[in-house]
Amino acid sequence: MINSNKEKDVQLYVVATPIGNRADMSFRAVEILKSVDLIACEDCRTSSPLLESYGISTKLVSYHKFNEKQRTSEFLNVIKEGKKIALISDAGTPCISDPGRILVQELLDCGVKVSAVPGACAVSTFLSMIPREREEFSFVGFLPRVKSQQQKLFEKYKNFDTVFYESANRLAETLENIAEFRGKDAGITVGRELTKRYEEICFGSVEEIIEYFKNNTLRGEIVCILYAAIANNDNDSNIVEQIKKLKNLNYSDKDISAILSALFDVNKNKIYKLSLNMKQ
Ligand code: SAM
Repeated sequence: MINSNKEKDVQLYVVATPIGNRADMSFRAVEILKSVDLIACEDCRTSSPLLESYGISTKLVSYHKFNEKQRTSEFLNVIKEGKKIALISDAGTPCISDPGRILVQELLDCGVKVSAVPGACAVSTFLSMIPREREEFSFVGFLPRVKSQQQKLFEKYKNFDTVFYESANRLAETLENIAEFRGKDAGITVGRELTKRYEEICFGSVEEIIEYFKNNTLRGEIVCILYAAIANNDNDSNIVEQIKKLKNLNYSDKDISAILSALFDVNKNKIYKLSLNMKQ
């Protein structure tokens, strides 16, 4: 059954805060954070300086992965009293590799109207400033630490540009793993310290990036994109080109996969999926 909340008042605001540059706080975020009855935040010590700098004195209550369940029922009671809550995280958009999904889900299940105050997010910031050939991407949050799990994940998403968060002290090892899974020519872009003083974007082959970070600072907050495996070898690039040409001649995805799989001796389904995902 469709569950529309059009007529209700918002009782939970999911509010984005800056990912590094304090000036990236939106006017509406400040307004909403001042107006609600309480702000649920990951760590009060982290959020207080930001909120104080914008003159926000609303009561803060901690909400993190270790008390999500307990706080969710407490917040539900607060909302039943007719009060309003805002959810923020340490930085960026709550629920994106940050706590919040349990609260949002639970409140939606209870018929509470939830709304977002959008703003900074490392994924969207990064994607808007890097080289990209295609619109589609997959976002996987933080990479698993175990090498075999990383391999499984990159295999699963190999036909998509894959965006992931990684800590600075694990990145070197992860890059070595990627070189092993995908070859040293795999294309990658690393974003570091976005919106901050030492912001840096570097792109190249995984081999070049490994070399670069041997001689340069590898600190701070990191977001990466590993480009789709399809663009990583000549045969695949050629197939992509041929798909584009046949699409322009109005061949169906099915015909394209039949023709090109015969010509290139490549799995028909793989070409069919590529063709489906590619714009005319
Ligand atoms: N909710 C946040 C968002 O909207 O992007 C992400 C929170 S997650 C716990 C934190 C991770 O996001 C960092 O470890 C890093 O990988 C990435 N990140 C956050 N801020 C960043 C920045 N300024 N530059 C690069 N990556 C950043």
